[in-house]
Amino acid sequence: MARPTGISPMNKLERALRVPPGSRIKLANIDPANTHGVLKAEAAERLTKNLERLSELQYRLYAESRRALLVVLQGIDAGGKDGTVRHVMSGLNPQGVSVTSFKVPEGAEKRHDYLWRVHQAVPEWGQIGIFNRSHYEDVLVVRVHNLVPKAVWSKRYRQINDFERMLSENGVVILKFLLYISKEEQAERFRLRLEDKTRTWKFSPADPKERVYWDQYIEAYEEALRKCATRWAPWYVIPANKKWFRNLAVSQVIVDALERMNLKYPKPAAELSAVKIK
Ligand code: ADP
Repeated sequence: MARPTGISPMNKLERALRVPPGSRIKLANIDPANTHGVLKAEAAERLTKNLERLSELQYRLYAESRRALLVVLQGIDAGGKDGTVRHVMSGLNPQGVSVTSFKVPEGAEKRHDYLWRVHQAVPEWGQIGIFNRSHYEDVLVVRVHNLVPKAVWSKRYRQINDFERMLSENGVVILKFLLYISKEEQAERFRLRLEDKTRTWKFSPADPKERVYWDQYIEAYEEALRKCATRWAPWYVIPANKKWFRNLAVSQVIVDALERMNLKYPKPAAELSAVKIK
């Protein structure tokens, strides 16, 4: 099937957002309000096209049922993880998608290695799995707050790469997104949450306190990007101050990845030409 018009010129965007393996990304050099030349006026139409295509590709992934897509969403508080799930995954068939939100480990999670709960949430063949936070918390919040000694968390980059490589070699296509907003934008979003009655539930008094650790989080993210941007599980830094651009960019990267998978409908189970429906 021909690609819908409007998608191919955006391949450049996918490349611009992808973190090259081994590169030392300085987040301070990335403008969180950058829209990579995309105009707001054209973004809505492009997003609609992407969501339509996403829905078609999801159907093929489901029909094929030999591989899975794992989308990892990370970001500093109020970075827009929930909004991305709502806007980008809205066109998907709920039968083929799962969202897992990773919180502070509890119960059995605490009695296993940190990847135990993560592996269980990996999507099955034919499915799209979305991680709202992920195993990267184990080298982010855990590192910033010294929840385990450095000797423990510093080994996790390699462990995560090995784990992701194993998944990838077994048919799980992995895309990792850092939704990157500025400190000012975060303050603005917290303020909005306080003012808007429909959003106060999202506000936790702990959130503004976490702002004290902003620089440490940035450092932790930079190290995760440097050590865990791999060929088999790429990281994308999404300038996310502008929600319309964030949604378009994430949808674009996902569509491009699914296109590259060259998904095929399985052959019918038997010769169908002789089948008569009476
Ligand atoms: P969210 O902010 O994602 O909407 P919550 O307000 O419930 O949801 O926050 C979840 C919290 O769980 C975050 O503060 C996050 O840092 C924390 N968390 C997630 N995974 C881990 C982990 N492995 N170790 C410690 N804390 C974690």
